[in-house]
Amino acid sequence: MKYQLIDTENAAVLAKGLCERIGIEGSQLKHTPKDRDTVVVQSYMDTHADAIKLVIDALIHRQHGVITDMGQIGAVGHRVVHGGEFFKKSVIIDEDVKKAIEQCAELAPLHNPPNLIGIKACEKVMPGVVQVAVFDTAFHQTMPQEAYMYAIPYEYYEKYKIRKYGFHGTSHKYVAQRAAIMLGKPLEQLKLITMHLGNGSSITAIDGGKSIDTSMGFTPLAGVPMGTRCGDIDPAIVFHLIKKEKLTAEQIDDILNKHSGVYGISGVSSDFRDLEKASDEGNKRAELAENLFIYNVRKYIGTYSAIMGGVDAIVFTAGIGENNSKMREAIVKHLAYKGIKIDPEKNSIRGIETDISAPDATVRTLVIPTNEELMIAKETYELVTQH
Ligand code: ADP
Repeated sequence: MKYQLIDTENAAVLAKGLCERIGIEGSQLKHTPKDRDTVVVQSYMDTHADAIKLVIDALIHRQHGVITDMGQIGAVGHRVVHGGEFFKKSVIIDEDVKKAIEQCAELAPLHNPPNLIGIKACEKVMPGVVQVAVFDTAFHQTMPQEAYMYAIPYEYYEKYKIRKYGFHGTSHKYVAQRAAIMLGKPLEQLKLITMHLGNGSSITAIDGGKSIDTSMGFTPLAGVPMGTRCGDIDPAIVFHLIKKEKLTAEQIDDILNKHSGVYGISGVSSDFRDLEKASDEGNKRAELAENLFIYNVRKYIGTYSAIMGGVDAIVFTAGIGENNSKMREAIVKHLAYKGIKIDPEKNSIRGIETDISAPDATVRTLVIPTNEELMIAKETYELVTQH
């Protein structure tokens, strides 16, 4: 669970941090007050509610706190993964909103339940403080119908709202806005492919500032192979496995969400740093996992330039996109024919907003650290001030 305390007047981050290993042995809070050293609080957190209590304690702590009491917190913005077709933009949370988030939980089983726990825990410790939900699906609500429909009987869309939703919308929206600033052009005039590559990865085609297609789908399981998620597979594999391995739907769900992706292929790790180390040591399956990822990301760059009729810039973001220069280089390797070429020297950076294009590239390649928290804070502020 990540958090930031942001002063919306000047976008200053007063404190930030994260709670790691919630529900696992060795859980800890890393808290960094502005311009001060990081403090590590080792304390067992059984649930996300425990984590939120620990965060509040850190924010008002006498030594490493940044505010004197919780009354100074004006509003809380929550990143909520799935808003279904209910939410096309961010909203102030009330009982109906919570119900709708709950209804969407079966569409994002790894994310919506802890999101709700977080919201309820904040309501409890900060009664009366406005809470806002910023949905990862909202940005993608501009997709045209031919992009979001699946070719299964239409009644399932009507009955169960089975369609593509897309995720990481806050991140794609943020980096697209930053890309426009870096390129010195209005977003409305740009064709962008934004690649959020982390534990979960998604790629979005953004035409004129609007998401027109994205690689994740009905759930965050679709698209490129991820840390532990399979990405796109032939759906018939599911029935075949059910028959051969005598698996239940829940077991298949678990396998495709938690035991697949680069972890499933390599048997080593879901983390690309571990994969790189293993493949450097000669582990062929770790190398294959990396190659599978690279190949599929590259395929989306081709697909999305085709549907937009061209591309002005591609953007790398999130853990892998921001930090892993080897992956960036490998992904764009065969794309010089499209005008996508990077400068190896510039590509050696990590975590800094940089145009890493080669001088003769006709399509820009940008590295833009995502800032979902700032985006969430901005949208929260806008809703609170309109309220
Ligand atoms: P999440 O999707 O959970 O937010 P991240 O965006 O942090 O995850 O991405 C996790 C991935 O990013 C891991 O595969 C990891 O190897 C990579 N990564 C994160 N930080 C770094 C770093 N400093 N150097 C290299 N790789 C990193």
